[in-house]
Amino acid sequence: MSDFVARARDVLKARAAPDARKAAAEFVAQAQRDVAFQLEACVHCGLCAEACHFYLVTRDPRHTPVHKLRPLRKAYRRARGPFAALARALGLAPPAPDAAELEQWSELLYDSCNLCGRCTLVCPMGIDIAGLVRRAREGMAAAGFAPADLYKASERALDTGSPIGVRWPALRRQIELQEQETGLRIPVDVEGADYMVILSAIEVIGFPAVIGALARIFRQAVVSWTIPSAGFEATNIGVQIGSRDIAAALLERVVDAAERLKVKSVISPECGHAYTALRWEGPNLLGRSLPFKVVQITELLDQLVREGRLRLRGKDARRLAFHDPCQLVRRGGLTEEPGRVMDTVSENAVRMPAQGAANFCCGGGGGVSAIHRAEKLRFAAFELKKRQVEQAGAEALVTACANCRNVLEEAIDERGMTLPVLGLTELVAQYLEPEPAEAKP
Ligand code: SF4
Ligand code: SF4
Repeated sequence: MSDFVARARDVLKARAAPDARKAAAEFVAQAQRDVAFQLEACVHCGLCAEACHFYLVTRDPRHTPVHKLRPLRKAYRRARGPFAALARALGLAPPAPDAAELEQWSELLYDSCNLCGRCTLVCPMGIDIAGLVRRAREGMAAAGFAPADLYKASERALDTGSPIGVRWPALRRQIELQEQETGLRIPVDVEGADYMVILSAIEVIGFPAVIGALARIFRQAVVSWTIPSAGFEATNIGVQIGSRDIAAALLERVVDAAERLKVKSVISPECGHAYTALRWEGPNLLGRSLPFKVVQITELLDQLVREGRLRLRGKDARRLAFHDPCQLVRRGGLTEEPGRVMDTVSENAVRMPAQGAANFCCGGGGGVSAIHRAEKLRFAAFELKKRQVEQAGAEALVTACANCRNVLEEAIDERGMTLPVLGLTELVAQYLEPEPAEAKP
């Protein structure tokens, strides 16, 4: 068992006995210079409130992004803020957060934050509020105050490799079905392949056609690729619950698979947070550089189109709007690629208001879709997306994140709307010129 796994298991034990003192200590540990600087920099302008979909739909001042940081700020000010010792001696320091307060703040730090970074984008002081929420979650998770659903999902991920318990036999079955569907062999555990594809559990269970779509795209573009039979899960519940140790323990499995198969690149699939976890946080979480390149599938599709390696036939005539996954676009930096890929398969793409880096989250990111008690608030947040869809006159949504896709489908259904939600990879595969040998077996 690696050190990460051992420490990750310790985090899970915390839920049995929530401990406010431990949370405060962890908040203080998190409040290093970079965090302290940001906590002191707020000028209370309120702009972050107007950027947050949860505040906009509820107008509840508790949903103001910077307000969600209150326990972190209190613990920091009490222990380490300017003149903290004097303030404590005079009885002027804020009290350390107690258990009742932390239980209350669990809903604010988890249910009402997608870690989407829209507040970060607008803060005139450059405060990364989403990043600070993530740091506050470290204290909450380590001390037993994270939502029970996220602890359970974390335990399943550590036990089975997947937050919803998807093991290799389930993926192997989906691969076999996609082989029958496409007539193509899907490579598994091929040593020395250029690319290793990992998948999110939501794709495996909810949208397995993406596997067949990848097989068709890579065959036409002559891409050397493989899927690992172990370490295939892309999602990382550790970054959502807010535990570096759980995140690192899960990342280790992907890195081990890539090293075992000696691949040059790992393709992060249609899953927003999986991309940021592996590409942007991976080396810091593991404490070493990754021995492979990380490429998000939308990036690769864009590259294959630009290199003329995909032969596309026809375009979708519907008014298609792209829903930008926050972790790919705003937080991940893929601001141009989805639009270029959309243009290759859509003749009638429409833009929703605040498209691109300013897009609103689907409402389910940052682990919110896994928190049962947050469902009502998540559906309420969809109201903004609904208005955007209506303003654009979109006839279908396209996205590049299976979690967004699932969350949008649920919210659309809850509103009684009929609006298809498509995956970008599958859409590209749909408009590929058929290959001669693609006859069904
Ligand atoms: S936008 Fe920035 S400075 Fe303004 S209230 Fe929010 S955190 Fe403070
Ligand atoms: S990260 Fe997104 S959901 Fe969280 S407080 Fe900021 S705007 Fe709101």
